[in-house]
Amino acid sequence: MNKFSIAIHGGAGTLVKGMMTPEKEAAYKSALEQSVNAGYEILSNGGSAIDAVETAVSYLEDSPLFNAGKGSVFTAEGTHEMDASIMDGSNKEAGAVGLISGIKNPIQLARKVKDNSDHVFLGGEGALKFAKAQGVSTLDDDYFFDQLRYDQWQEIKDTDSFQLDHSKSKDHKFGTVGAVARDAHGNIAAATSTGGMTNKRFGRIGDSPMIGAGNYANNTTCAVSCTGSGEFFIRGVVAYEVSALMEFKGLSLSEAANEVINKRILEIGGDGGLIAVDGEGNIAMPFNTEGMYRAQRISGQEPSIAIYK
Ligand code: ASP
Repeated sequence: MNKFSIAIHGGAGTLVKGMMTPEKEAAYKSALEQSVNAGYEILSNGGSAIDAVETAVSYLEDSPLFNAGKGSVFTAEGTHEMDASIMDGSNKEAGAVGLISGIKNPIQLARKVKDNSDHVFLGGEGALKFAKAQGVSTLDDDYFFDQLRYDQWQEIKDTDSFQLDHSKSKDHKFGTVGAVARDAHGNIAAATSTGGMTNKRFGRIGDSPMIGAGNYANNTTCAVSCTGSGEFFIRGVVAYEVSALMEFKGLSLSEAANEVINKRILEIGGDGGLIAVDGEGNIAMPFNTEGMYRAQRISGQEPSIAIYK
C-alpha cells in the first residue's frame, strides 16, 4: 500500500497555556482527533486527497471551538463573514470564497466554485448567488451565535481595533482551520477556512481564501494551509513561498516550511504557523506562536494530536 498522510490545524491562536483547563484541552483534542480521523478514513479507503481535506475541514467548521463555520468571530457590524479556499495539487485547480454569510460549510462552497464554475474566487453577494444556484441552503444568524465570540466582540466593538485570535493579551483564542493530505495515488491537496478577525470591517479579507498566500497545492512540491496574521501572510505569499523554496532552491519540505515561518514571516512582523505535506507524504507543522492546534496521521499509524510546542 502506498503511503498516505493527513495533517490538520485549528489555528495558531491557542489559549495561553496557563488558561487552558484539562476539560478545554480534552474538548479541543477530541475535535481535532475526529477531524483527522474523518480525513484519514477517506484516504485509507483509497479516496482522494481533495475529498479528505474537504471532509476534515468540514468537521472543524461544524465545531464551535474554532474560528470557522459555526464558531466564526463577529465583524464590526455584528455579523459573520467567512472566507475559505481549496486547491488540488494534481491539476492545480482551485476554488475560493470570501465575505460570505449564512453558509454552514464555506469549504464545501469553495469546492463547488472549483468544480462547477469557470472561476477561482467568488466574493460576497455574488458568491451567495452562486451558492443558491448550486442548491446550497443558507442558515440564520442564530446558528453562528456563540457567547464567547460575542463577549470577545463586545470588548472591542466600539473601538477601531480588530483582533486576531492570536493576540497575546486575550484569553479566548480560537483559530482558522485547515487540512493538507497526500493520498495513496500520490496526489496532494490543501483546504483552509476562517471567520477572520473579530471586529473586522470594510470588507476585510485575510490570507485564508487567497491561493498562494494562505493555501496552495502543487503535486511536484507541497500542499500548504496557513494560520496567522493574515495581512503579513498575504504580503509574504507564504504558502507559495514554501513551494517555491522547494522547487527553485531544492529545500526539503521541513527546511522550506521552517525558513518561511521562523525567518521570513518573522522578519516582516508576522506571527502564525502552517501545516504542509509533500509529494512523498512527509508532514511539516512549524509555528512561531505559543501553540497551534494540530493533528496528523500517517498510513498505518495512530493519530498524533498536539497544542503547544
Ligand atoms: N489567517 C486568518 C486571517 O487573517 C486568521 C487566522 O489564521 O486565525 O483571516
